[in-house]
Amino acid sequence: MLTRRSFFGSAVAASSAVVAGRAAGEEKNVALVKESARDVPVAGSCDVLVAGGGPAGIAAAVTAARKGAKVVLLEAQGCLGGIWTSGMLSCFIGINKSDFDKEIQRRLEKYGAIQHRRPKANGFSLIYEPEYMKLVCEEMCIEAGMRIRLHTSVAGVVKDASGRRIEAVVTESKKGREAWLAKYFVDCTGDGDLGALSGCGFDVGGDDPGDPEQPASLIALLAIPDESGISRYLTNHPDNFDENGKRIVNSKLELLAALNKVGITPSYGHPTMFRINKGLFAFMGNHEYDVPVDDADAITEATLRARREIFNMTDALVSKGGDAWKGLRIVFSAERLWHRRARRLHGKYTLTLEDCFAGRKFEDALCTCSFGIDLHAVSKAMNNKVPAGSPIARRIKPYQIPLRSCQSRDIDNLYMAGRCISGDFMPQSSYRITGTAIGMGVGVAEAICKNLGC
Ligand SMILES: Cc1cc2nc3c(=O)[nH]c(=O)nc-3n(C[C@H](O)[C@H](O)[C@H](O)COP(=O)(O)OP(=O)(O)OC[C@H]3O[C@@H](n4cnc5c(N)ncnc54)[C@H](O)[C@@H]3O)c2cc1C
Repeated sequence: MLTRRSFFGSAVAASSAVVAGRAAGEEKNVALVKESARDVPVAGSCDVLVAGGGPAGIAAAVTAARKGAKVVLLEAQGCLGGIWTSGMLSCFIGINKSDFDKEIQRRLEKYGAIQHRRPKANGFSLIYEPEYMKLVCEEMCIEAGMRIRLHTSVAGVVKDASGRRIEAVVTESKKGREAWLAKYFVDCTGDGDLGALSGCGFDVGGDDPGDPEQPASLIALLAIPDESGISRYLTNHPDNFDENGKRIVNSKLELLAALNKVGITPSYGHPTMFRINKGLFAFMGNHEYDVPVDDADAITEATLRARREIFNMTDALVSKGGDAWKGLRIVFSAERLWHRRARRLHGKYTLTLEDCFAGRKFEDALCTCSFGIDLHAVSKAMNNKVPAGSPIARRIKPYQIPLRSCQSRDIDNLYMAGRCISGDFMPQSSYRITGTAIGMGVGVAEAICKNLGC
């Protein structure tokens, strides 16, 4: 069996440790204060409460609401869309699989907010403008009819006496702590916050204790008024493909060389730039290694470091890179780092690498994933050793995601969709893409609505 350990070999053993299965707040020797017990006002009650309004959460909430369920959607940030919008991702992989993602494409198209990723569209991915994606997500949720609460983080749960059912989630916002009652809960927080707060088992990191995790990244939008000198750095520029749509220029390596030339070694060895509209570009050149999703200090430190790195890179290109970069300005950097890693909450079935290689089908399939294993370097030292699109990525066959991987093993009325479902480390690097997250969200909502008799 090919484990992640055998794939990365000794380089993994040499890098810093993250212990698999580490529980939230497990720090030792922390001084404690006792908070007094208090009554928490009930802010709402519904059939389906969706925690997290990213790709998976939007799909779950809209599908459930369209089927007639009473839905509450809770989102920590000030907009919907998750990594699509708050994270400035700009690249939607795994499209044309469901009516839901086709509807998103149609709506983006209406705003002129889509670019092809390749000149001969491969029908698998597209580039979009994040600001319009915010609007599309909001329109879809408002039209479906649900209660949307932004700026509100899930911070706790109340369970029944059996300990196997959630009765309410407790949130924190400017209104203080509030409780939300529901029949079913769906963890679409990407990081698996709701499951962890409910006491569910989960894994982080690789197959073996001590294996580190995939890096997080901070993405930025750049404005460059004159595009004529930068085509070879753009992953989606037509000049970088032959007439059959085959890539002839490796734009990531070209961009790496341009950065090296101005004295910069980026923390991400395959820096990427997409053209998202005239004069507007998405830029991902940053990797932050070993940043746990539940360590706010580490996330803060990494975010500050990442933003500084992005400015250092663009400053160097402008001052020493020649005319091609003239006028470059950073328009926006995402307000938070986005994690590739997640708590992988324990479900009734755990997806394995063998499932991906075998193209496994399931009776309770929700959707199919055909994206390869996408492991980035797990440490700075390995940054240039893990090639993008490595052979292991191509070994997978389209495999299905079963409903059981999206059903909590520990809590009977908790489902999950997106990055935090139940799977081993390597499959997670494949099924985490946003097209598959949508398929899971839609499928989970349909299953819940069936239970509800909607
Ligand atoms: C740097 C990077 C690059 C990637 N590149 C691509 C790519 O090019 N194309 C692609 O398709 N996929 C890509 N992926 C993978 C994919 O984007 C993610 O796995 C995606 O996050 C999956 O969607 P999601 O809905 O599960 O989670 P998310 O997008 O993370 O959405 C989760 C939502 O929950 C909210 N939330 C979190 N915690 C709480 C809480 N406690 N209470 C309330 N709300 C909460 C968040 O604010 C967020 O809005 C990339 C991922 C990363 C990190």
